[in-house]
Amino acid sequence: MIAVDVGGTSIKALALCGDGRIRARTVVATPRGGDAALAALCAVVAAMVDELARTGSAVSRVGIAAPGLIDPDRAFVAYAANLGWRDLDVGTRLGEQFGTPVFLDNDARAGALAEHVLAADGVRESLAFVPIGTGVSAAYYSGGAPVRGASGAIGEFGHLRAVPDGEPCACGAAGCVEVYTSAANILARYRRAGGEASSAADVVASRERDELAARVWNEGISALAVGLGALVALLDPSRIVIGGGLSLAGEALLEPARRGLADEIPWRTAPPLVASTLGAHSVLVGASLLGDEAGTAGRRARAATLARDLAAPAAGRAP
Ligand SMILES: [Zn+2]
Repeated sequence: MIAVDVGGTSIKALALCGDGRIRARTVVATPRGGDAALAALCAVVAAMVDELARTGSAVSRVGIAAPGLIDPDRAFVAYAANLGWRDLDVGTRLGEQFGTPVFLDNDARAGALAEHVLAADGVRESLAFVPIGTGVSAAYYSGGAPVRGASGAIGEFGHLRAVPDGEPCACGAAGCVEVYTSAANILARYRRAGGEASSAADVVASRERDELAARVWNEGISALAVGLGALVALLDPSRIVIGGGLSLAGEALLEPARRGLADEIPWRTAPPLVASTLGAHSVLVGASLLGDEAGTAGRRARAATLARDLAAPAAGRAP
């Protein structure tokens, strides 16, 4: 099968053998514009199809995770702002081109699926997964089942208003969690204020010697805490897992976020707030599980194999 994580910054794809081992992998920058982004996705899938064909393997299915409002039943993108996609029938387009079943879901839900499948007590748990990367979103499992909403628009956690009279957001509102907390906006806000950095990780790393970095970082954490407070009040998760690139900040993110969350909900104990053990790979592992009809044990074994291979980049790489 082929697993693809279509992000606002890059498109990552894997060609997987039947046992879940990586046959080939690729990463390309996501081009600007909806048509260009779709063409890049098709090119990446075609490259992975070729890799599997070289081993004599047919492609059993394609699993794609993408940001935005997505109907997984139809493999249909209603709106993906970061990709420039609106009313795009990805399932039909790629299905016809590659002659294989195509499964598509929102990136946060795909990441939550990976976390859920790998959780030891995932059968029952109420899990909130909050990926923080180019954007910020959330997905939720209640009692072991995904909460899907009416139209695929669930989980727009990044557009909860965290700051009254705050800075404008790409969504048309202002003061959203994403404006302050996404990795892209942490970097952008730091640069706009005169800082020099090439990534959000640079801002995190310099926060103890650079007042501007500390301010931008703390504002990001504060907005996140407001959003997490609302999430806990509404959904009462047993565990919150932070994923995406910013989760790699580890305790620099988690420790102040836990304090901020506790301040938001003084009337109750906060659930555990942890970073994903999959690092930035949750969404890709989740994409590999889309359309996988194996039982729980089979899916968990394959997901664990893939997670291990992704954590050791040299292993499983195509020759
Ligand atoms: Zn917004």
